[in-house]
Amino acid sequence: MDSQTDYIERLRPAGGKRSGKRDLVVSVFLRQEGHLSADDLVDLMRKEDKRISRATVYRTLQWMVDAGIARKVDFGEGRFRFEHSYRHPRHFHLICKACNRSSEFLSSDVEVLLAEIAEARGFMARQSVVQIYGTCEDCQKGNRPTRPSAATDTVFARDALRIAIATERSGLEFYTRGARLVRNPRARDVFRRLAAEEQEHLATLEARFEQLRTEDPDIESYPTFLYFKGASDGLFAEGAEKLRQVVDDREALMIGIRCERASHRFFKRYGERFEDSEGKRIFLEFATEEREHLELLIREYRALVGHERPRRGSPRPVA
Ligand SMILES: [Zn+2]
Ligand SMILES: [Zn+2]
Repeated sequence: MDSQTDYIERLRPAGGKRSGKRDLVVSVFLRQEGHLSADDLVDLMRKEDKRISRATVYRTLQWMVDAGIARKVDFGEGRFRFEHSYRHPRHFHLICKACNRSSEFLSSDVEVLLAEIAEARGFMARQSVVQIYGTCEDCQKGNRPTRPSAATDTVFARDALRIAIATERSGLEFYTRGARLVRNPRARDVFRRLAAEEQEHLATLEARFEQLRTEDPDIESYPTFLYFKGASDGLFAEGAEKLRQVVDDREALMIGIRCERASHRFFKRYGERFEDSEGKRIFLEFATEEREHLELLIREYRALVGHERPRRGSPRPVA
């Protein structure tokens, strides 16, 4: 992954000249988590270097917005706040009107719905903002707001891993059950092989989760960042259920193909949409693994029905 310096370098506009003051403002800004007003950043800069003027901070913020390093957010306070997009995916906000703290979430279901609405209205969407105003849990219970906030990148990685792990578990269940059910020896071998692969991937993902826990022992306690309604119990859960009523091996392979295709698309589509982050990497790696499984299943399906004429519902090649 890019270091912060590489990241700034990469985003420098073509022909843009180096500026020591601007680079300092950018690196201080990138070290912050959360949502800063321009004045918050001015105060932070004053502690670093008294010679940096308010105008330089304002100009640099605007430059960062234009370069895609910073995003401007409006919490309805009569001034803008800024958050950085370095290892920080686009997200929505929950804003507490009692303590003024904001927290973040991301939901593919909400994003899909927003895209559908825009499309139905022939609207070319550039940016969607979802903000939920209200009272946070701490304020409702009269607790002092002390909950530490983890870096979004870490929470995002945790949630991406949870979804990938749930998918692997349901995939393992699917192929293990499939291997018991199919009669054709070759199909049985494929299901066994895929079950073994899911098991291995699962171990890798769980080791990565352990790594996160070592880096931050509180990792499980942060609120969920990534919401996926359909994916939370694993994308193969429905297929595993369908396997119970399967009549022949061809149909079993076909269910596997549908599940792998749906899973590949899911992880690719969201992985590509996320901004540079560990979560993005987890999704894209997973999409590649699912694609390999899909290709293997399609080859096996074709081998199994090789002597038959192509029939309705035979699998399409991998898109
Ligand atoms: Zn609050
Ligand atoms: Zn935010």
